[in-house]
Amino acid sequence: MSSQPPTALKNFRWLLIAIPIFLLITVGVYLIRKPPNTKIPPRSSGHPAPSKSTNLAPLALSPDWSKLDRFQNIISKETFLNRLEKIYTKDSTWKKWITIDDANNKAFFGNYQLVFSPQDKRPPGSLFEWKTRADLSDDRARPLEDLIIAIDPGHIGGDFAKIEEREHNHDDLTIREGTMTLETALILKPLLEKLGASAILVRSKLEPITKNQAQDFADPRLFYRTSEIRARANVINQTIKPDLVICLHFNGTGSKKLIPDQHFHIIINGTYTKGELAHEDERFEMLQRLLSGTITEEIPLAREVAASFNQRTKLPAYRYPNSSRASQNLANHPNLWARNLLANRLYQCPVIFIEPYVMNSIPFVSRYRKNREGIFKEYAQAVADGVARHYSFK
Ligand SMILES: [Zn+2]
Repeated sequence: MSSQPPTALKNFRWLLIAIPIFLLITVGVYLIRKPPNTKIPPRSSGHPAPSKSTNLAPLALSPDWSKLDRFQNIISKETFLNRLEKIYTKDSTWKKWITIDDANNKAFFGNYQLVFSPQDKRPPGSLFEWKTRADLSDDRARPLEDLIIAIDPGHIGGDFAKIEEREHNHDDLTIREGTMTLETALILKPLLEKLGASAILVRSKLEPITKNQAQDFADPRLFYRTSEIRARANVINQTIKPDLVICLHFNGTGSKKLIPDQHFHIIINGTYTKGELAHEDERFEMLQRLLSGTITEEIPLAREVAASFNQRTKLPAYRYPNSSRASQNLANHPNLWARNLLANRLYQCPVIFIEPYVMNSIPFVSRYRKNREGIFKEYAQAVADGVARHYSFK
């Protein structure tokens, strides 16, 4: 008997090996060639999604801490702590996120280390360089020569005034804050130019700067406040790169009825609350302002603008309640207050945010009815005089 298996049996064994190999190759080829998931994701339309992380402010991106490298060995520990405690915070909650290492003359912001300098040196700007009044040439013919001033007419106005809740109706009158700020800005611009400045409007129409629309967000405030201010910040920080931003506003309360009195105050960035400091981006932006020293220009400038306003308008100073955790009086000046607003935090140069008049008050409405142009001229002139006075001093 031959020891070789019969041919049929040989073929059967071959099939036992070949079939599983064939199946494996077939499955393998299918898996490799399987088309990618073609399910179309929801249309993104290029709009930023609100940040999901609870440690970022709405629509914020995570900060790049290495951008603080430019402030290494620039500020003394004393100046750092003085600004942190007197301007940027009102209580000691900052200690949860900022640690001072006395032995090594350093601060820790989480993992990031900042080395203090034995003495204060001139700081760089955080995103771009801006001029202080000391940088201006002594022999300039006009006080604002060489200065770039961005004028930010607060809110959007026009048809957007209603959705942004900056519209008051009194009988036949409709008063819209964003429309009035633009009218004031259009008067202020040539006044500043006459004084030698290059004055640039952040918006020149009754339209938003942001490409977003109200319907992109469940909460319309994310459109007219957050997305709009972030878009303006991009224009200011990336294109205009000014030496100063003047934010024009008209105060107004939520009251539907006319209230008896008007008042006036100027807001400078500061007084970060515990909740704001808990946001990594806000903490970072606070440090950018603190380290670049915007406050050294903002306080003396705001003093001059307040003086010229007080001279012209005689409006009483507005006082925030002492119990307010989000505001504090600055430099013992009745008109100067520190508050952390999105605009005065994001615009990376000195910013003054002006809040005169009360647009739903009896005296304002009566004046508006008689001569609204007169209010805008008074406002613009007071700002121009104050700014000119500040930059005239050495
Ligand atoms: Zn306003």
